[in-house]
Amino acid sequence: MSTHRIALLPGDGIGVDVVREGQLVLDTLAQTTGAMRWDMQEFPWSCDYYLQHGQYMPDDALDTLDGFDAILYGACGLPDVVPDEISQHQGVLRVRQGFELYVNLRPARLLPGLPTPLAGKGPGDFDLLCVRENSEGEYAGCGGRVHQGSSYEVALQTTVFTREGVERIIRYAFDLTMRLGRRHVTNVTKSNALQFAPVFWDEVFEEVAADYPGITTDRNLVDAAAARMVSSPETFDVLVASNLFGDILSDIGGALMGSLGVPASANINPEGAHPPMFEPVHGSAPDIAGQGIASPIATIWAAAMMVEHLGHAKEAELVMAALGDVTASGALTPDLGGDATTADCGAAVRDALRARAVSAAA
Ligand code: ATP
Repeated sequence: MSTHRIALLPGDGIGVDVVREGQLVLDTLAQTTGAMRWDMQEFPWSCDYYLQHGQYMPDDALDTLDGFDAILYGACGLPDVVPDEISQHQGVLRVRQGFELYVNLRPARLLPGLPTPLAGKGPGDFDLLCVRENSEGEYAGCGGRVHQGSSYEVALQTTVFTREGVERIIRYAFDLTMRLGRRHVTNVTKSNALQFAPVFWDEVFEEVAADYPGITTDRNLVDAAAARMVSSPETFDVLVASNLFGDILSDIGGALMGSLGVPASANINPEGAHPPMFEPVHGSAPDIAGQGIASPIATIWAAAMMVEHLGHAKEAELVMAALGDVTASGALTPDLGGDATTADCGAAVRDALRARAVSAAA
C-alpha cells in the first residue's frame, strides 16, 4: 500500500474550516478503502503568521514543501489584516510560481441537487474543463508605481507571455483533451482589442493545434466566452486561457455550479518537478469566516482531484460519488440554500463514503 506525504496549508479565513473537512474525508477514504496511507503535516502559514513573523511563509517554505507528494491548500488573504498584494504574492502565488505549477485545472459541471441559476439545466448538461495558465500572463507581478500620491502618479501592470510559457500550457490542454477522450479545445483570447500579447498567444495556439489534427478548435474572445458560458455552457469542452481570463471564466463556472463553495482546482507541474497543489477556487471569504457555515464541497472536490493525481482514480470517483450523494440529499450549507454547517456537510460526505464502501464490499 502506498503512503503519500501531504502538506496541509489551511491559510486564512474559511480555509481553516474547509481544509479540516478535506483532511477528515481523506482519512475516512484511507480507512474505508485501505488503498493508501496518508502522512499529513499541517503548516500555520497565514496572515496571522505574517503578523507574528513579518512574512507570510518562512524563507525555506518552498524547500520544506518540496519534500511532499502534494499540497492541499485552503485560501490566502485577509485584506483587512494584511494587504492582498502582500499575502497573495508571498503566499499562494509564491507556491504556484516557485514550483512552476503552470497548469491550473478547473472543472465545471453540475453535481446532483445543487441549485444552478441556469433555467432547465441539470447534472450532465454541461461538463467543461478550464485549463488556465498559472505562472505568467497578467499575474506575473511585472509592473510598478511611481509618484505615488501625486496627481501625476503612474501605475503599470505588464502582461508577460513567453513562448515557452504559452506553448506548454496550450500543449497541455491538447494532451489532456486526448488523454480524456475529449474532442474540442476553445482558445479564449482578446486579440481584437489587445494587439500584442493575445495575438502572439493566438499564433502559438494555431502552431500547437496543427500537431493535433484529431481535435477540433475554435477561438472565442473572452467577453463573448463569458456570455457563452452563461447562455450555452454545453457548447464548451476544454478551454485554454491566460491567467486572468481563466480566473474570471472559472468563477463564472463556479456561479453556474451553484456557489463559489463548489468548484475545485489543481495546480500542476506536468513534468513532476515539484509537488502539485490542490485547492478550492474560492478565497478566504472574510464575510463568513469563523461562522462555521462555509461549504467544504470545493475543498473535498480538490482532495478528490489530489487522490486521482496520486494514482487512485477509483477512490477519487468514490469521493465524487459520495459528494453527489450529499448534494442530492440536501445536507448543504447556506450558500447552497441549506442550513447545514461546514462540519455537518463534511460529516455527511464521510457517512456517504462509508456507506458506499460497505455496499461496494458487499
Ligand atoms: P479571492 O480573490 O481570494 O478568490 P474573493 O474576493 O473572490 O477571493 P471569496 O473569498 O472567494 O472572494 O468569496 C466571494 C463570495 O463567495 C463571498 O460572498 C463568500 O462568502 C462566498 N464564498 C466563497 N467561498 C465560499 C464557501 N466555501 N462557502 C460559502 N460561501 C463562499
